[in-house]
Amino acid sequence: MIVIASEGTKFMDVVFKMVGTGSSDSDTMFNTGAAIVSASGAFLIDCGFTIKSALNTCGIGFDNISGIFISHVHGDHVFGLERVGYEYLFRLQRKVPLYLKREIYDELWHQTLKGSMGRIGEGDATLEDFFDVRFIEQNQFSFEGVNYEVFEVAHTPGKPCYGICINKKILYTADTLAIPDIVKQYDYDFCFHDVSLHEGNPVHANLSSLLDYPDNVKQKILLMSYGDDWLSFEGVVTEHFMGFAKQGMSIEL
Ligand SMILES: [Zn+2]
Repeated sequence: MIVIASEGTKFMDVVFKMVGTGSSDSDTMFNTGAAIVSASGAFLIDCGFTIKSALNTCGIGFDNISGIFISHVHGDHVFGLERVGYEYLFRLQRKVPLYLKREIYDELWHQTLKGSMGRIGEGDATLEDFFDVRFIEQNQFSFEGVNYEVFEVAHTPGKPCYGICINKKILYTADTLAIPDIVKQYDYDFCFHDVSLHEGNPVHANLSSLLDYPDNVKQKILLMSYGDDWLSFEGVVTEHFMGFAKQGMSIEL
């Protein structure tokens, strides 16, 4: 069931929760990302530059991260790792498990984070000094009793990006163009799907391309990663899809 989490939500059950739903240029919403929240903390799906405010706003709390999965290397999905890395190393003094595909390791560390994090007071630092890095093999892993299946999607050409299926209940596409074969292939009750509400975007799923999905798929889709003018599209979206994903929206796993 979908429940809109209130501030007093207890972490007794395991729930999937949207942490942010905005596009990279949104000025009114947090970066698109989610968390699997349990008694032991929040396992993040992506970690963009708004992560600290987003976690504190949606009732999870920045200090309660139990693990992180990274879909791909764009700022609105990974720049929050700098904040998590530094605060967890020096203030909270623990390493967060960081799940990623080997294919994005060099891009994430050597081409992105190293310039900011590669040198600390103690000397040279590596990604492993900040995080418990765990490579995803065979496109699947389990973390604290929740099963994750990983699949490649179609975002920026030549740049790997991965979606994730959680407990065969939630399909989370990350940033992608339309992926009709994948949305038909997996078992799930809800699909959180990337969208560009305006036509002509070469790396995000244009709304018209999602309208071509089968009706039984569209009825399970909650759109995410949308822009600040989303209200102008509410009519067409609610007519064809389950609706817009919103920050704090939660689903029991
Ligand atoms: Zn992206």
